Amino acid sequence: MEPVHLAQADSGATASRPLSDWLPQLRAARPAGAYVHVPFCFHKCHYCDFYSFVDTKDRQDAYVERLLAEARTMAELVHEPLQTLFVGGGTPTLLADDRLRRLLGGLREALPWADGAEWTVEANPETVTAAKAQALASCGVNRVSMGAQSFQPELLRQLERHHEPASVARAMGLLRNAGIERLNIDLIFAIPTSTLAQWQDDLAQALKFAPDHLSCYGLVYEPGTPLRARLEAGGVERLDEELEASMVEHTVDTLAAAGYHHYEISNWAKPGQECRHNILYWQNGEWIALGPSASGHAAGLRWKNVALLQEWLDGGPWPPVRSVESLDEDGRIGEAFLMGLRLLDGMEAQRVRELLARGSRAAQRQAALDAAVARGDMMWTDGRLRFSERGVLTSDSVLRDLL
Ligand code: SF4
Repeated sequence: MEPVHLAQADSGATASRPLSDWLPQLRAARPAGAYVHVPFCFHKCHYCDFYSFVDTKDRQDAYVERLLAEARTMAELVHEPLQTLFVGGGTPTLLADDRLRRLLGGLREALPWADGAEWTVEANPETVTAAKAQALASCGVNRVSMGAQSFQPELLRQLERHHEPASVARAMGLLRNAGIERLNIDLIFAIPTSTLAQWQDDLAQALKFAPDHLSCYGLVYEPGTPLRARLEAGGVERLDEELEASMVEHTVDTLAAAGYHHYEISNWAKPGQECRHNILYWQNGEWIALGPSASGHAAGLRWKNVALLQEWLDGGPWPPVRSVESLDEDGRIGEAFLMGLRLLDGMEAQRVRELLARGSRAAQRQAALDAAVARGDMMWTDGRLRFSERGVLTSDSVLRDLL
């Protein structure tokens, strides 16, 4: 699933409190978007660390009603019409059509929405039927993010993804027939055993659908996942770093030639088709979070709803949260760099100077930036600091130094 949707796994170790305990501070919130987490999946993929589980369908109605109650309550924090909605998971399109309509229609009523607000729903290709596509379109969904991941059957098996490559074509067609034009395709590269030729084929196949947006992520061996356990037990091997780097280089060249703008480390869009919701995250904007394990950010606070469906169902109407964080100055500076530099337009020089002048780790940050510029991984152009195309390959370590 599109990886920037900010739901997280949770150990469930500490006690939860209702988010309303932070209301005095949250009253200053100015959210511009909303994230909704749907935790149900029909299979748990081996690499996945999002909060999701195989669904027995017995709690879906309760989930939808509880989520709408949460939305009506959280409306107290929303003072301006919201610009974006992102429904992620999990597999939102696993919800039956009538439940999906109830969820989306209820969200439309519960919260104020700007004209032309971007409404994105993540979809698993196997779950998209003509009726589902129609349900999405008629409820105002204008963007769908399709979890294709790969078009190579053996690589899908490596990921434990249970869909046929052909189902992506069928799903894309159904969504377009229903009138949803803004389509993202998610792809994963550097899957164990994969070759450059397979990745070239994956990109070529994705481009045949002419999506207006592509997300290409290198496989991450997240702690706690079965894939990570297999890696540690020697059951799978990481792809060679040089091969992974050549996959990134091929992606950058191919998508540029196909007319896509590389606007974020892992995201490409046709002009004007960038994901507005994810840009809200990367620009350190404010959004509310609905559903178990969803993370929100507003009024200087970052919070995460409990990642246990039953505990979340039993709580409410304010979401039960397990962690609420108010970042100190160093934390805010690090986060501003982390998010701002992910966008390849980079950050204004003036903003960089302001951030480097503050905090107790200013000297280390300055040194990390100077070193990245000296290596050619970052550059100053048009009064902005940004990653170079080759710097994208090493961006993780540079961003870690800045954080
Ligand atoms: S479909 Fe997506 S959310 Fe569900 S288990 Fe697989 S990767 Fe995780």
